[in-house]
Amino acid sequence: MLTGESTGMALPADFQFHQANLQDYVECQRRFQLRYLRHVAWPAVPGEKVLDNEKQMQLGDQFHHMVHQSFLGISSDDIVLAAKDENLQRWWSNYMQAMHGTLAGTTYPERTLAGRLQGYRLLAKYDFIAVLPGRKVTIYDWKTARRKMDRKRLAARLQTRAYMYLLVEVGAYLNAGQPIRPEQIELIYWFANYPDEPERFCYGEEQYRADHRYLAGLVQEIDAKGDGDFSSCTDDKVCGWCVYRSLCGQGTTLGDADDAGTELEPEGNADIAIDFEQIAEIEF
Ligand code: SF4
Repeated sequence: MLTGESTGMALPADFQFHQANLQDYVECQRRFQLRYLRHVAWPAVPGEKVLDNEKQMQLGDQFHHMVHQSFLGISSDDIVLAAKDENLQRWWSNYMQAMHGTLAGTTYPERTLAGRLQGYRLLAKYDFIAVLPGRKVTIYDWKTARRKMDRKRLAARLQTRAYMYLLVEVGAYLNAGQPIRPEQIELIYWFANYPDEPERFCYGEEQYRADHRYLAGLVQEIDAKGDGDFSSCTDDKVCGWCVYRSLCGQGTTLGDADDAGTELEPEGNADIAIDFEQIAEIEF
């Protein structure tokens, strides 16, 4: 396990890092500051695209809920009966054909893991983890975006890096008490609109160490900033879909999230809802 110490108390001591707020930071430091440090609630300018995006996120959320229900023992027929939207029905059919029955091992749907990095808590919320104790650990993440994000972008995302890193750090309790070695981990992104084109990422010691340096560096950098010196993004595409665009003088027209390289997923850029009872058992 790699460890590090806090460099100071510029952030609230109980500040929690996770893949979504770190992703916000690397996309736009200003957005991180507005959203997570100043808690600025800024309503999106109403419009057809906004409503469409909201609907897309709600459907994604529902799909995640449906998969979770199936692991709680609810029958597929009952689950799909409640799905009124045709996209949702199609995603479910794709899921049943491509994934159902393939998730071997001890399974952990909707898990949140918590570790510590540079003196702060680091969290990751996983859609699904399947463990073959002592052999292999597979992380599954369900994606419902209209367009499939390319592999290079996926590899660079904080989600990819934090998911695998944190599993090495604190995943032993899922693995019969044995530490999980990086080379035992695989991450699979499964796309509900592209069911036969999953993206698989294998982990290893070198990447784990690189991720530790990268994540610790980000936390350290943010910690050192306090509440000042958060630079604004200069990419129009990123600003174009950002909820703060009117506040930043970037216009009111909503851009295209796909063009911006972001994702309209239920967990995408929203703060993570944490079930502290669930993570209490793995706190250290
Ligand atoms: S509008 Fe652009 S500069 Fe402003 S917070 Fe959003 S991404 Fe950052």
